[in-house]
Amino acid sequence: MKNKSFENTSEKTLYKVRDNIAIITLDSPPVNGLGKSVRQGIKASFEIATRNDEVKAIIITSSGKLFCGGADISEFSKGGLNDAPFLPAIFNELEESKKPVIAALNGTALGGGLELALACDYRIALPIVKVGLPEVNLGIIPGAGGTQRLPRLAGVELATKMIVSGTPINANKALENGILDYIHESEDNFLDAAIDYAKHLLVTNAPVRSCANIRVDTSSLPDDFFKIFRQSIAKRTRGFYAPERAIQCIEIACESPLTEGLQKEAEIFTECMNTPQARAQQHLFFAERAATKIPGISSTTLPRNIESIAIIGAGTMGGGIAMNFLNSGIPVKILEIREEALHNGLHMIRKNYEISAQKGKLSREQVEQRMALLTATLSYEDLADADLVIEAVFENMEIKKQVFTTLDNVCKPGAILASNTSTLDVNEIAAYTSRPKDVIGLHFFSPANIMRLLEIIRGTETADDVIVTTIKMAQSIRKVPVVAGVCWGFIGNRVLEPYGREAARLVLEGATPSQIDNVLYDFGMAMGYCSMIDLAGIDVGYLTRQGNRETFYSRDPSYAAICDKLYGLGRFGQKSGRGFYRYEGRNKTEEPEVMELAAQLAKENNVTVRDISDEEILERTIYMLINESAQVLDDGIAYRSSDIDTVFCNGYGFPGHRGGPLQYADEIGLDNVLDALHFYRKQLGSYGEEWFKPAPLLERLAAEGKRFKDYHVSV
Ligand code: NAD
Repeated sequence: MKNKSFENTSEKTLYKVRDNIAIITLDSPPVNGLGKSVRQGIKASFEIATRNDEVKAIIITSSGKLFCGGADISEFSKGGLNDAPFLPAIFNELEESKKPVIAALNGTALGGGLELALACDYRIALPIVKVGLPEVNLGIIPGAGGTQRLPRLAGVELATKMIVSGTPINANKALENGILDYIHESEDNFLDAAIDYAKHLLVTNAPVRSCANIRVDTSSLPDDFFKIFRQSIAKRTRGFYAPERAIQCIEIACESPLTEGLQKEAEIFTECMNTPQARAQQHLFFAERAATKIPGISSTTLPRNIESIAIIGAGTMGGGIAMNFLNSGIPVKILEIREEALHNGLHMIRKNYEISAQKGKLSREQVEQRMALLTATLSYEDLADADLVIEAVFENMEIKKQVFTTLDNVCKPGAILASNTSTLDVNEIAAYTSRPKDVIGLHFFSPANIMRLLEIIRGTETADDVIVTTIKMAQSIRKVPVVAGVCWGFIGNRVLEPYGREAARLVLEGATPSQIDNVLYDFGMAMGYCSMIDLAGIDVGYLTRQGNRETFYSRDPSYAAICDKLYGLGRFGQKSGRGFYRYEGRNKTEEPEVMELAAQLAKENNVTVRDISDEEILERTIYMLINESAQVLDDGIAYRSSDIDTVFCNGYGFPGHRGGPLQYADEIGLDNVLDALHFYRKQLGSYGEEWFKPAPLLERLAAEGKRFKDYHVSV
């Protein structure tokens, strides 16, 4: 909006009067965040408009695609959020305006952006607009009136759902529920439409409206609404602080006048802001963004063009990976070695879509559209024109070698050749081709169509533009990319290994699978280790370990002994009905047999069986995650501690309210982690001596009184 007729009222706002209507434009792209300068501009513009007798109504709109993405969250950590002018105070002034104030939502309004609109008298929007209050995702509640004004305008049920889930709703739903007053269909002349709307309000003497005059309508609300609502979210929000506090704010809105509610909301907002959960969730927010910036790669590096994808292997991973692209409208060719495997793979993809259709998540038409983008082949010749090939065959270097040698022969120059290997050496795979610069690891997680994480494995020779392309590709299919270096297991599986080792060892020492799982679940993990490995497959874990036998077993003959025993007995986990637990449908029960096997293995390996405290389980498993993460960081496999946190929270069920293993370590203090490692090193004898050596980086940072956050890998 660089029209000369506009004047600047701050660095980031514009102002003009047209036909007696003042137009205040937020001009701080890309998200028009409500930082200090924007706040100053809104206040200054509003005061000018209020003083000018010729101005009869005021429109607030914005330049750019988004109306407003909310608070400037860099102010959360750097400070400045409470600097005058204070956002809630501006909104109160808008609400008390004697002249009608109209929010003209030219794009999506989130958080403080929606709160700004709610404080206006009327709201008009384009059909593409979404509105939402996603603050809970940052560990806080809406703090500028959202919890008090939204229930007054939209009713308690919708407001509670929106605020506690953080999920935005579309314009039509917002219109139906009183959040919007009018939707203007055409994008071309939206400002003209907003001015016409303002004029219409004036001509019809439409009243100025204030939420202060609206009581929250609870007449049709069931008595036990909040109780039932709390029960419905209990599992999903366990460990998070803000959702419960948000509900309390809405309860206050139901009972109190607006001013009182706003006062309480402000207090609760400040309280939430100072919790470990808020620090953790905000850390993860920034971590995801930081992960796409790769040291040493220029931001001007252009990505390669990716229009066609080929996938080798239509098994568990190949099928899931294909679905990501099909869901985003990108054509996929899938290659198998045998007709039957191809048939089964296609059948599985269709079945997954059919299940989504039965649940009402997809229409029939969408199922067919997606399947139509998929072509199947048994011939490598058909992959000659693919821009990106992702290999997802068995985890076996000999087979990967055959596949990459063939790809090297058939693929066009410049095609990116990727492997979905979980643990194998991407440099070795690259060396089987004449173009190692084009080879990269793309480690999807299972189920690949659902899990958000994508580990991008940067080989020694991988070209910069291949990394940039795969990061962009990941974002286009809504994955969270994290770049890792080459080592056994990369970031995630490498760090997970000692965590699993401790869990398995603890079973030998006398902890039951359910004791271990309960401790980890209560800590916030999506599931405990024994349940997780039963789900992922005890056979998968066993086969993966064989690739690194010398390292594990030569150091410790009891390594993963219980897992190997279960594997030997064909107890592969959920898929075979038995693993650490016995499964009947979705129900699992513990079987005494597992602890009998553990006792026998303990005897064979001279392990003393004893009562294990919950505290020991937590420290030995989680602190091992931290210790190995520190080593991964020190080895340069991860670029920053937040990358490891992103991996664990998006790929391994680590609780978001703890922000990942290293954020958690920063929060509880590195010296505490170090002390515990020293303690177990001593207490566990030769086993402790072998495995509980603290990572040198952890020792260094603890000695300097620093946090993992303070550590930056030099490139
Ligand atoms: P899978 O056994 O389900 O599927 C592998 C498929 O590859 C089979 O359908 C097989 O017929 C096909 N195949 C084998 N050799 C082939 C060849 N030469 N050409 C074409 N197709 C061939 O295995 P999966 O679980 O999908 O694993 C595939 C890869 O993904 C492995 O490298 C694995 O380590 C990795 N991975 C697996 C998981 C997981 O949880 N399953 C997670 C991340 C990564």
